[in-house]
Amino acid sequence: MSASSGLLTLAGVTKRFERQPDVAERLLAAFGRPIDRRTVHAVTDVDLSIDQGSVVGLVGESGCGKSTLGRLVSGLLRPSSGVVTYAGQDIAEMTARERVATTLKIQMIFQDPFASLNPRHRVRRIVGEAVRVHGLAAGREVGERVDRALAEVGLDGSYRDRYPHEFSGGQRQRIGIARALAVEPMFLVCDEPVAALDVSIQAQVINLFMDLRDRRGLTYLFISHDLSVVRHISDVVAIMYLGRIVELAPSAEIFARANHPYTQALVEEIPRLDRRRQRFSAIKGELPSPLAPPPGCAFHPRCPHAMPICREERPALLAVAPGHTSACHLNTTG
Ligand code: SF4
Repeated sequence: MSASSGLLTLAGVTKRFERQPDVAERLLAAFGRPIDRRTVHAVTDVDLSIDQGSVVGLVGESGCGKSTLGRLVSGLLRPSSGVVTYAGQDIAEMTARERVATTLKIQMIFQDPFASLNPRHRVRRIVGEAVRVHGLAAGREVGERVDRALAEVGLDGSYRDRYPHEFSGGQRQRIGIARALAVEPMFLVCDEPVAALDVSIQAQVINLFMDLRDRRGLTYLFISHDLSVVRHISDVVAIMYLGRIVELAPSAEIFARANHPYTQALVEEIPRLDRRRQRFSAIKGELPSPLAPPPGCAFHPRCPHAMPICREERPALLAVAPGHTSACHLNTTG
C-alpha cells in the first residue's frame, strides 16, 4: 500500500460530471428560465496506491462513487483533476500506443455478465475478440488462447461454440473472466462481480478470483457494496462515502478495529452466527445527493456521534495506527 511501490496509484483524483438539462429544461430555457447546471461530485480527491499482487476491496453504498472510481482506474473515464499512474507512468501522459497497452493490462469485470456479453456471438468469439483485434495472437493461436482461458475459469473447451443465453449466471461470469484473462492482464477491476449471483455461486466465483491471484499474481481492485464479500479476498479495505475515502486499513484491522463511525455501522450490519437473535440496525437515513454534498463531514446527517464541528469542517484522512487512516473528528477532539 506504499505510495512509491504501487503498481497503480491515484493522487488527488477527482471526477465531476456536469448535470445535463433534460428536454423540458431546454424548452423552458428558450423562454428565459435559467438552466440548473449543478455538478455531480462523483469522486473527490482520492489518494490510493495498490501494490502488485495485492487485493484492495473498495466498499460503500450504491451511489457513493465506487464504480466511477473503478472506471477511472480502468481508463474508461479520465479524471477531472489528479493523476492516475500505472507502473510508474502517468496514464494521461502516455502515447496512444502505450495507453492501449495499459488498458489491455487493466481489465474490468462487470456486475451483469449477460449485459456485457454480446448475445449474438459464440463464446469463442467473445473471449477471443480482443486478442484478435489487438493482434496479440493470430490464426490457431487465438483459439488456443480461448481454450486456455476457458480452462482456467473451469469451463469445458466444448462450450466455445455456445451462445451466452445457454449458460447460467455463474457460468456467464466465468466467460466474462475468461475474456479478461485472454489478453494476459496484470490488473483486474472487479465491479460488484458477484452481486447478481446466488450466494453459493458467489463463493465459487470468489474462490476462482483467489486461485487466479495465486496462479497469475494478479492485482485486484474489488468493488462491492457488501463488506462481507470483500472480507476474505482483500489485503486492504478502503471505505468510500459520497465520493471520498473515509477509512483505509489492512482487512483484518478494519474488521477488528473499525475507526470511522460509518465503517463501524457497515461492520455491525454483517450477519454473524453468534448474533443470530440480534436484530440488525441499518444505517439510518439515505446517502445525500452528490449534487449537493453536506458541508463539513458528509456523514454528519447520519452519524450518531456528530458534533458541532462536524457540520462545519471536513475531517482530514489521518493515521490512527500503522497503515490505518480514518477521516473523523473524534480522532482529534478530546
Ligand atoms: Fe461522525 Fe463527526 Fe466523525 Fe463525521 S467527523 S464520522 S460526523 S463524528
